[in-house]
Amino acid sequence: MNSIDPIVMKRRKFWGWGYEGEGVSDAELLDLGSSIRDRFGLKLQDLEAAPTIDEIELRESRVKSKASLEHLLSADKWSRAEHTLGKNLGDFVRGLERKYDNPPDLVAFPEDEGDVVDILDWAEEEGLAVIPFGGGSSVAQGIEPIVPDTFRGVISLDLRKLSRVLEIDRESRSARIQGGVLGPHMEDQLRPHGYSMRFFLQAFEFSSLGGWIATRAAGHFATGFTQIDDYVQSMRVVTPTGVMSSRRLPCDGAGVSDNRMFIGSEGTMGVITEAWMRLQDRPSFRASMSVPFSKFEAGVGAIRALSQSGLYPSNCRLLDPVESLLSGAGDGDDTILIVAFESADHDVTPWMNRALEICREFGGRVESDKPADSSQGAVGRTGAGGRWRNFFVKGPYYKEGFARMGILRETFETACTWSAFPELHARVVEAATKAVKKECGEGAVACRFTHVYPDGPAPYYTVIGSARRGGEVEQWAAIKAAASEAVLEAGGTITHHHAVGRFHRPWYDQQRSDVFAAALTGAKRAVDPGLIMNPGVLVDA
Ligand SMILES: Cc1cc2nc3c(=O)[nH]c(=O)nc-3n(C[C@H](O)[C@H](O)[C@H](O)COP(=O)(O)OP(=O)(O)OC[C@H]3O[C@@H](n4cnc5c(N)ncnc54)[C@H](O)[C@@H]3O)c2cc1C
Repeated sequence: MNSIDPIVMKRRKFWGWGYEGEGVSDAELLDLGSSIRDRFGLKLQDLEAAPTIDEIELRESRVKSKASLEHLLSADKWSRAEHTLGKNLGDFVRGLERKYDNPPDLVAFPEDEGDVVDILDWAEEEGLAVIPFGGGSSVAQGIEPIVPDTFRGVISLDLRKLSRVLEIDRESRSARIQGGVLGPHMEDQLRPHGYSMRFFLQAFEFSSLGGWIATRAAGHFATGFTQIDDYVQSMRVVTPTGVMSSRRLPCDGAGVSDNRMFIGSEGTMGVITEAWMRLQDRPSFRASMSVPFSKFEAGVGAIRALSQSGLYPSNCRLLDPVESLLSGAGDGDDTILIVAFESADHDVTPWMNRALEICREFGGRVESDKPADSSQGAVGRTGAGGRWRNFFVKGPYYKEGFARMGILRETFETACTWSAFPELHARVVEAATKAVKKECGEGAVACRFTHVYPDGPAPYYTVIGSARRGGEVEQWAAIKAAASEAVLEAGGTITHHHAVGRFHRPWYDQQRSDVFAAALTGAKRAVDPGLIMNPGVLVDA
């Protein structure tokens, strides 16, 4: 048996974000709430109490553990509740309403790949659905055990005990890492070797390597290595028919990519137990600046030029005036472009100077000739960029707070070409604003670019409004539907990095071609003939 690091088994909240007993205080939430109310004219409600486990009722488990697997399986109430809901607004609200309607019957905690094989074999024999679970940070209902009645029950397969960095290849600067490791624990194991993966998505603290690969997550790099796809060298996936293992290669031209058939498979084709991942040296040179623009369009022009300049900034985010106001980065008058560079090898000042020249060419107000640079540490943590970063880092904790305060706040995101962006943006903002007015009365729609590519941006929208207690799920569903229709009609994707899950299925089905849907279904049937893996996600159950 592996020795398990105590952090792996530290109790996580069954509702909300983080470890039990940790997070932001009620006083901080109330402060945040009143400043948002003042900025956006919202109604605040009394801070609702987070649910306690005694208040939750779960239906009886329908499945009895097989004796030989009993040590890996749990029907404990806390575990089942913890594996019932994900982390989108509807999940938080249903948790607050104490509605845990679809708990898994059992939660499995495999300790190695052999255990995963045994659990899948047993599930197939018994007609049980299996839902791989990494950090549970899905915002697309990817881990919620909603499966057809034809299954006798559901197992949530929690990979947290597969949490080790197993091997490092210094020459090829890559590491073999188990799929269940959470971001901070993985970085803790890489740090003594001088490496980092530098893949800091907003949910970094409570999301796993396997989850990132399964959902095609996107990290903090705004250009270049944005998606996890770019980091995967090879992987092992346990499917119900056997193990898919790919060869370690820097690049491979041999037919359809085996890795890419499984990257993004969202638990529907098997369990990612480990992967060889590309690493990076820890940066020692950094520079960061934020540049205000009087007009959003001018900021868009500048960031497009930056994305096509070949400079590849590590951070390159555009915050529209509403996003600046919402995050406290600005006063709501200006669009703000945050640009940063990092390198372990060379001084990045010349890159920054050229980036600032580009900003000036588009009317950006570059206040200093000297970039806020530093050779270590706290770069980008002051000024507008720093205020935005602080809000971003605490964002996951604030999410549960907004639900408790009766503020309807949720996000959606997409990607499109630069040529499609002006129309997409106009249609999305119009549709979402109209829906917010109808559903909430008062509110706002904010936009930022999370990632930019030479051929287009990934716009990310935040909706904020007054919640109607008990009606939040319907309010958000109406706003989300209006926005999603506008996104698809204007040529965008239903998600750049939030995955499809169960929530995005209707729009995902519209955007993909029938031929591709048939190919994907065929591939799934080949590796999962009993269709037990995460039924209903990506293809029909
Ligand atoms: C506040 C917040 C901020 C977020 N920010 C970002 C962001 O910046 N970038 C981004 O890309 N996403 C973001 N997300 C979404 C989410 O964090 C990602 O989708 C993440 O990759 C999910 O990882 P996880 O380990 O939590 O997966 P889970 O939520 O546990 O699972 C997600 C899906 O992957 C499958 N899965 C999980 N592990 C495995 C495995 N080992 N093998 C096979 N299938 C598996 C599950 O079955 C499910 O379908 C955010 C979410 C929240 C709540």
